[in-house]
Amino acid sequence: MSRITDLMSNAVPNPDYRAMVSGILKKVGEDDPGLCIQCGKCTSGCEAFKLSELEPHRIMALYKVGLLDEVASASVIWTCMSCMKCEERCPQNLSPVDTILGIKNVSIMQGGSVSDGLSAQLNSLMENGYIQAPQVVPTRGGGSVSRDDLGLPPAPKPEDPEKFLNVLMNTMGELLS
Ligand code: SF4
Ligand code: SF4
Repeated sequence: MSRITDLMSNAVPNPDYRAMVSGILKKVGEDDPGLCIQCGKCTSGCEAFKLSELEPHRIMALYKVGLLDEVASASVIWTCMSCMKCEERCPQNLSPVDTILGIKNVSIMQGGSVSDGLSAQLNSLMENGYIQAPQVVPTRGGGSVSRDDLGLPPAPKPEDPEKFLNVLMNTMGELLS
């Protein structure tokens, strides 16, 4: 997996790339990376940092100076699981998670490919209405447990799948237009 710091040695600022990410973020009401004080609270609470060294505070710093080409080509950005913890922890009310989503969008618009995990989530969302179908999960004793085992009802699906899909596709179209 490529880390952001591995890709920085010959980096050159790209104002066009920064403007594209900025344009996407403005659509979701996102804010000014100039407000980031590099306190690191986002990274210290980030689950993806613990697992794969995703560093949202560094991404915010690179966004500030326009070095987003390097970030977009780092496979580690796809490890962000959109848990929103960084946004909740930020003392400046910034949203690194939205910034990362913006970078992913621009990366795709420029011919990059969606990670396998995200493709699987999208397919599941379109088929079932949620990003991951209910799983049979392992237990500490070496066994496994399912919703049925726990006496839970089947996970609910959209009442009108066609309408759900239309809303989903329209929303994605609006975000990307
Ligand atoms: S928590 Fe907010 S202010 Fe602190 S480094 Fe992260 S984005 Fe910047
Ligand atoms: S949303 Fe992404 S970057 Fe933010 S804390 Fe969660 S995994 Fe980390």
